[in-house]
Amino acid sequence: MTEYWKSNAMHWCDICKCWMNDTKAARLNHERGAQHQAKLATKLRDMAKKADQETKAKAFNEAAMSKIEAAAKKQYEQDRKAAEAEAGRWTWDPECSYYYNAAHRWYYDPKTQWYYGGEPTPEWSQSPPLPAAAMFGVAPHEGGPVAKGTAGAGAAAASGAVTSGRLDGLPMITKTVQRVVAVPKHPLADVGGYKAPTTGRIGGHMGAGTEIEGGDGGAAKRKREEHQAKGGGTSSTKAGAVSAEEAEALARREAARQRVAQRTAAGFGYL
Ligand SMILES: [Zn+2]
Repeated sequence: MTEYWKSNAMHWCDICKCWMNDTKAARLNHERGAQHQAKLATKLRDMAKKADQETKAKAFNEAAMSKIEAAAKKQYEQDRKAAEAEAGRWTWDPECSYYYNAAHRWYYDPKTQWYYGGEPTPEWSQSPPLPAAAMFGVAPHEGGPVAKGTAGAGAAAASGAVTSGRLDGLPMITKTVQRVVAVPKHPLADVGGYKAPTTGRIGGHMGAGTEIEGGDGGAAKRKREEHQAKGGGTSSTKAGAVSAEEAEALARREAARQRVAQRTAAGFGYL
């Protein structure tokens, strides 16, 4: 009919790990029992012990951590001081208006961003033999026109190098950026070798140059020689008419022509 199974409500004792009827009487009975009392006492003792241990461990850990931290801090300070001692410090010298690094005995000019120093003969240099950590901008500096913390980027950018200053002792990575500018080529720059003219006058289109031996050039040269011989004949008859000043001017012009011819021939690779 309407019969269905229904379980009684039960209560779980977490200390004794057992079930009991979920009634007030059953619970009280269990809690007053010797087994439950004993287990409860044990559990409370364990909890207290555990808490005590935890506080002790926490204190111990904290002490250890602070000890390690102190040691690390001390080591860091030592390393920093050692690095600073190695890198030196750039101090402003108002007398010569350069920075001076006493550890390495080098000067730095913030205007030109060149270094001056070296032994035995000091000289100006853009890449002095200083350790990377000692370069101006990487090593600390004080005084002078360069504001603190700005020198690194400025100096690096001006010298055309992208520099990442490293304070952890690893080598500094320097990358030089080179700008390539395309210069327009002379239109006849490629003419040479087998493409070069074998006849005519080299550089003739510029009104200068030398005859090429052989081929038609020989004929042209011969013709000109004949012409010159003729001209020489006429000039010799008029020699008296040419003044000393004019002769000198002519000689100069001839010398200049020769020079241009030679240069042109050299430019075409014929000399
Ligand atoms: Zn119990």
